Amino acid sequence: MKKYILLIAGLAFLWSCKSNKTLSSAELTSNSKLITSYANTINEADIKKHVFTLASDEFEGRRTGEKGQKMAAEYLANEYKSYGLKGNHLTGDYFQNVPLEALKNKSEHPSENVIGFIEGIEKPEEIVVISSHYDHEGIKNGEIYNGADDNASGTSAVIEIAQAFSEAKKAGYGPKRSLLFINFTGEEKGLLGSAYYVSNSTYPLENITAALNIDMIGRIGKDKPGDTNYLYIIGADRLSSELHLINEDANQKYSKLDLDYTYNAIDDKNRFYYRSDHYNFAKHNIPIIFYFNGVHEDYHKPTDTPDKINIELLTRRARLIFYTAWKLANRENRIMVDKADK
Ligand SMILES: [Zn+2]
Repeated sequence: MKKYILLIAGLAFLWSCKSNKTLSSAELTSNSKLITSYANTINEADIKKHVFTLASDEFEGRRTGEKGQKMAAEYLANEYKSYGLKGNHLTGDYFQNVPLEALKNKSEHPSENVIGFIEGIEKPEEIVVISSHYDHEGIKNGEIYNGADDNASGTSAVIEIAQAFSEAKKAGYGPKRSLLFINFTGEEKGLLGSAYYVSNSTYPLENITAALNIDMIGRIGKDKPGDTNYLYIIGADRLSSELHLINEDANQKYSKLDLDYTYNAIDDKNRFYYRSDHYNFAKHNIPIIFYFNGVHEDYHKPTDTPDKINIELLTRRARLIFYTAWKLANRENRIMVDKADK
């Protein structure tokens, strides 16, 4: 009798594995209960822990090439490892070394991009990138520039999104396409880590279907006093109409944030579209979205500290990016590049 029960259990287990892994793109992208259950693994407690660690005084403002940046790199690598992600397939660890030459005399030491990878089940060669820079300004005149919003906030979101996808994969709902999580160094020195990445990509650039970049999503900007439900979206429609629509649909169906396209205007005088790491991907005709809360009084000041982060809002913004990434990774066709960027 026992044997019989074990056999039935075993068969049921095998059947469940098979059924999970053979869910169609249509099933995987329409099952809102399933998708929401993984989005909700992105939670305030985890986000708070990451923000307060990365932006702690101990990390000394994460200046490119310095001790604090390297401590942050270790922290991120250990997170990816603990979630069961693969790393950089070329080096076997979670780092892409960025040599001194690539840092253009703006750093005294070489630095590192941090990489985590989840292999797709049906189209592993096609890749969705989710990125943030994790470096900041370091210590100046004895003051630590903690960079909590810029960009411990986006970096915390990236690792939480990685964890959510890894949980789904462990349960048999692995993504159809591959997901590549990259935390860039050298952003504050002039987008140098991402420039190095696209020139020395660990995967062919033409296989990157989209790149979602997060830089500052933990605060309420000076243009939006008291608004706890907005997010600026920049670049989504510049190369692909579909990318814009997917992000809009994900928001309408799940997140219900007020998406603001003010800074997406072609003639935006702030030129934010050109000012973070996504631009190095857009240059190569890869559709991008830049998620951003706008600037505020603590922008690039030692007062950009973790106690000022709105953890609840950051968590909801991170979930929107997860929902958009889920659709990009699991939809039937890769998104089309149907526009020429100006
Ligand atoms: Zn930044």
